[in-house]
This record gives sequence, C-alpha cells and structure tokens, in this order.
Amino acid sequence: MNNKMSLPMQILIALVVGIAVGLVCYFGGFADITTNYLKPFGDIFVNLLKFIVVPVVLLSMIDGIISMNDMRKVGSVGVKTVVYFLCTTAIACVIGLVFANIFNSAGLFPVLDAASAEYEAKEFSGFMSTLVAIFPTNMWKSFTDANMLQVIVIALFLGGSILAAGERAKLCRDFVSSAYAVIEQLMSFIISLAPIGVFTYMAWVVATQGSEILVSLLLVIVCAYLGYIVHAVLVYSLSAKIFVGMNPVKFFKGAFAAMIFAFTSTSSAATLPVSKECAAELGAEDDIASFVLPLGSTINMDGTAIYQCVATVFLASCANIHLTIGQMIVVVVTATLASIGTAGVSGAGMIMLAMVLEALGIPVAYIGLIVAVDRIFDMGRTCLNVTGDIACSVCVTKWEGKKK
Ligand code: ASP
Repeated sequence: MNNKMSLPMQILIALVVGIAVGLVCYFGGFADITTNYLKPFGDIFVNLLKFIVVPVVLLSMIDGIISMNDMRKVGSVGVKTVVYFLCTTAIACVIGLVFANIFNSAGLFPVLDAASAEYEAKEFSGFMSTLVAIFPTNMWKSFTDANMLQVIVIALFLGGSILAAGERAKLCRDFVSSAYAVIEQLMSFIISLAPIGVFTYMAWVVATQGSEILVSLLLVIVCAYLGYIVHAVLVYSLSAKIFVGMNPVKFFKGAFAAMIFAFTSTSSAATLPVSKECAAELGAEDDIASFVLPLGSTINMDGTAIYQCVATVFLASCANIHLTIGQMIVVVVTATLASIGTAGVSGAGMIMLAMVLEALGIPVAYIGLIVAVDRIFDMGRTCLNVTGDIACSVCVTKWEGKKK
C-alpha cells in the first residue's frame, strides 16, 4: 500500500488552493499573472483531453461491438437490453435538457467574457443534411477534424465488419483490444494530471471572473443532481413498478449497496461485482445479469447523459452561445452516443463531453471551467449509471419470463 495521496484528495486540494490563489489575484489586481503563467498549463491539460477523445471513442466502440459477439447467442436478450438502454438514455437526455434550460432561462447560468460573445453559433442545417453529413467521405479527415458523429459511424462500420469477417479478422480483433488497453492506460494518466488542470484553471477563472463563478458552479451541480434524482424516481421506479411489478422502495433497497459503492468509487466497472449481487437479490436471472451488467457498465450511462446535457447548456451559456431547438436535438443524439462511448471508469464522462461540445461547435476549452468539480458530478452520475444497469437486468429477466 503506498501512501500517495488519492486523486480525489489531490483534486480537492488543487480546487481549494486554486480558488484561494484566484481570489488573491482578483482582489490584488494581478489577474494577468494567472492568464500568462497559470492558464497555459490548464490549456495543456485540455489539449490532452482533446487529443485522446478520438482514439477513445473509436477504440472503445469497436471493442464494445466486438465483445457483443455473443449477442447472437442471446439475441433476444441483447435486443431487449439495447432497446431499454437506448430509451432510458434518451429520456435521461431530455430530463437533463429540461432542467438545464429551466436554470438557463431563469438566468442562473453565467455568460463569461465579452470575447466569447463574438462566437457565432452554428445554424442547424436541417435533419436530412445532418444525416448525410455524418457519413464520412474520408476517414482520416473525420479523425483530424474530430468529427465525432463520423468517428462513431466509422467505429460501427469497422466493428461490424470485424465481426462479419469472423476468423480472418482475428488479428484486427487482437489489435483493437490491445490498442484499447493502451488508450485506457493513457486516459488514466491524463486523468491523473487533473489536479494541475484544476488548480491552474480555477485560479485563472476566479482571478479573472471574480467569485461569482463559484456560485454558478454550485448551481450547475444542483441542476445536474435534480436531473439525476428525477430520472431515478421517474424512470427506475416506473420500470420496477410497470415492467416487473415490484415496489420501487424494494427496488432501491435492493440496489442500495451498489448505488453507494458507485457513488464513492465513481466507476461502473469497479462496481460490477456489487451490482451483480444486488441484481441477484432483486430476482435477476444469473445468465441475464451476467450479460446485461457488464454491457451496461460500458454502454448504459443515464447519469452521464444527464451530466453531458446539463454541462453542455451551462458551457454554451458561459460562451454566450444560444442553442436552437435543432441544436438541442443534436445534443440529445450526441449525448446519447457519447454516453454509450463512455468507459465505466472515473472521469470518463468528462472526456466524452468534449465530443458533444465539438459536435455543437462550443470551444472545448470551456470544459476547464467544470473540471475542478467533475468528481462531484461523477459521484451522482455513476450512481445513476449503475442503478440503470440493475433496473435493466431485472426488467429483461421479467420479459424473458424467467423471473423467480
Ligand atoms: N464514472 C462514470 C462511470 O463509471 C462514467 C463517467 O465518468 O461518466 O459510470
């Protein structure tokens, strides 16, 4: 056991020290120092986040598709599971957007500086042309432009083709899982640099914006948590009641251990063993839970979807960008896809947020504003992600007519 300070602790300290330094610079009138000498280090952290997002999306999606190999064997379970995941995630996006827009139109989200006001929001060019535009003509261009919808289409095609090619694609399969392992390693290294990003950006933001930004951060956290709670009460209670005929209180009692573990570990993947026990206790068939829970911990992220929607509206407001209805639809689609592409590990949802922002043309650097408090978002969203997986395993068991 090494006695190195844990990452959440480092981030907390970086946050407090960053705020303190920022306030000193704000009141002392030397905000320029933070802009010239601290912010560049935050920029490096954000650059790294941007640089990792394309390989993460590409490889994690292909890897996910390849591991669905046994979906054919469990065809009907697979289809029901994916339909449940997609529907609940889309509902999560809508709930997230509703709350974010309520907060935004009540004027609770800030507009930061005048420089970003020059930014022109991209016009939504209509459904058909958006549809055409997600199919790439040149794969490398999609990567260099970080066009995430195109990257996802490429991942779907490549993953499907690897499955279809069977034995002949063995080398590709092995390459993808090995490359994904490398990228995961790199991702955890980048996440370990978060304290630097947190300290430098926090000091800069507070020094240049004053203490108002702190109140805004609190508000955006409250907004996300309202979304999490409403989604849990509405979607999972109703799922338990309507689809399984189970009292929602019984459901949440049964899922409680996994929820708490997820809340503290901020990793769906790490919570898997506990989720399995909870699902079994709630009557999920073992073979179904063994399929649904690992798949869910990689692709079913309702909490992450809510967070991404709330954060997108918040950061758009900070950048003085007004999202149109068409762009809101893009948010729902990209946040659903981004949450599917999010790995079940701590902080992954924030990296995938870059994809949603890219799709809307919101400067990714704005993520720097919320990176400091990501852990607080992450605790709630992981708790919701895991609850959704357990709810799904119980529902699919019932639909398969196997409930004990
Ligand atoms: N930490 C989340 C999970 O493991 C993913 C995320 O960061 O949104 O479910």
